Amino acid sequence: MHQDTDVVVIGAGFSGLYALHTLRDRMGLDVVACEAAPDVGGTWYWNRYPGARCDIESIHYSYSFDEQLQQEWTWSERYAAQPEILAYLNHVADRYDLRRGYRFGTRVTSMVWDDDTDRWTVGTDTGDAITARFVISGGGNVSIPKQPEFSGLETFAGPVYATHAWPHEDPDLAGKRVGVIGTGASGIQAIPKIAERCGHLTVFQRTPNFATPLRNRPADPDEVAAVKKDYPEVRAASRNSFLGVPYPAPAPSALEASPEERRRRYDEQWDNGGFGIMLATFGDLLFDKDANDTIAEYTRERIRERVTDPAVAELLCPDDHAFGTKRLPMETEYYETYNRDDVELVPVKRNPIEEVTATGVRLADGTSYELDVLVLATGFDAFTGALTRMGIVGRGGVSLNDVWAAGPVSYLGLMTHGFPNLFTITGPGAAVALYNNPLAIEDHVELATRAIGYMIENGHRTMEPEDAAQAAWREELNARAHATLFPQTDSWYMGANIPGKPKVVMMYVGAAAEYRASCAEVVDDGWRGFAFEHAKASV
Ligand code: NAP
Repeated sequence: MHQDTDVVVIGAGFSGLYALHTLRDRMGLDVVACEAAPDVGGTWYWNRYPGARCDIESIHYSYSFDEQLQQEWTWSERYAAQPEILAYLNHVADRYDLRRGYRFGTRVTSMVWDDDTDRWTVGTDTGDAITARFVISGGGNVSIPKQPEFSGLETFAGPVYATHAWPHEDPDLAGKRVGVIGTGASGIQAIPKIAERCGHLTVFQRTPNFATPLRNRPADPDEVAAVKKDYPEVRAASRNSFLGVPYPAPAPSALEASPEERRRRYDEQWDNGGFGIMLATFGDLLFDKDANDTIAEYTRERIRERVTDPAVAELLCPDDHAFGTKRLPMETEYYETYNRDDVELVPVKRNPIEEVTATGVRLADGTSYELDVLVLATGFDAFTGALTRMGIVGRGGVSLNDVWAAGPVSYLGLMTHGFPNLFTITGPGAAVALYNNPLAIEDHVELATRAIGYMIENGHRTMEPEDAAQAAWREELNARAHATLFPQTDSWYMGANIPGKPKVVMMYVGAAAEYRASCAEVVDDGWRGFAFEHAKASV
């Protein structure tokens, strides 16, 4: 089926839903939205593994664009679980009648720019071809799973479940011997819940992570009322805070504080739970290795207190990266799980998983583990995975995959030279990952849709970044990141979790407010760094 439209929106997660609402309902444009899943939710549609919940407080991890919406929705817990977040996104879809804009079960598989017509032709796995003047991708940053590094998965006799695509009907694990591979944020949330349900759990851990307490609890009605009373002010404070959450300001330096003061601050935030441990304690933790060592050692001490077997505790203590330089997972009873008789921790760094067999997992030294069920929590092809699988071909027949072969390039994380009128919401090079996602997404959707509005008003046919602006943005990303400890760690922030993927700075490492200020300057300066071509025809 062929259709011509003003804008194609990809995805029905936080990004796609808000983009569709803005373009269609506020700007009056004709929009076709495509979503691979059968319904809305994005990440929160797919990641329905036991224990899945957000780890930024729900009153902050939600849309801010409509005061009525934020007043009428009430979260039941401090950090909502996946079903409640999915219910929220369903509520948003219903409230703004967004479903009628979607083709569900429709994955974008090609996107080709036509220099003669100045339009994209978007192809899908259902055989649709949609021509559009603009495309907004909300395909997500951690949405495409990483391919397994070991062979034999297809030979395993039992079921293999992946955290990113957990079955809708929760599998019965009672009495089963379950193996979990992966101890990132997903594994760390799922492992305690799986241990409670199965007969025996084997956790295959390659790199131990620093994980700190989440401390979820029912939402406090007084706190909720206080936030709702001043929601716009709370959101403004969020947008001016490093992570997009208004945590208390940190003291400047862990090294200047006395050991007692350090301990007091770490204890306070450890007990409070959430990202305050990294952001509300000391301002130099992510910049100075000696400062970072103080929180790293504090965390290791707390792990040792909670794990009964000292040898197991040591296996769980990270020693190869700085605290917070891999995305900090938040945990609930994670460390205590290893005190159970029916849970075994198997280190696989020096003795890696070589093969999955019909009956379980075999390590390089030949040791085998017999399993009935295998769970993969092995992570994502982050930042670029969704876009490089869309078959994007820009000006002159050049593919995005070729342009990004040595690592992604973009301007503001929003657009890439040679791919006009294609907007990548929280794309590589944007403030994301270190910025509360719903707010990061709102900012970016607003930037993209404002750009589209500007083009229409001014009769511009195409818009794309200038090469020089893109190169300068790359320098800015590198300079910011290299002032911190992040590049010293192999993580998905750096593309380093995928063998062969170029290791580059994938995101804006800085405060949300600084990124927002950079974008505002660009806009105020007449979209500095973007090139426009004038239109013969307008939308
Ligand atoms: P991840 O952080 O990349 O963790 C993947 C895990 O799998 C790591 O422990 C990794 O070990 C391991 N692994 C990968 N390949 C392996 C192999 N061949 N053998 C053994 N182990 C292997 O992925 P994730 O846990 O899915 O989290 C990804 C991101 O999603 C998070 O960082 C976060 O941004 C988001 N997330 C958020 C929430 C939340 O909001 N609450 C929850 C879950 C996920 P190595 O470290 O050695 O590579």
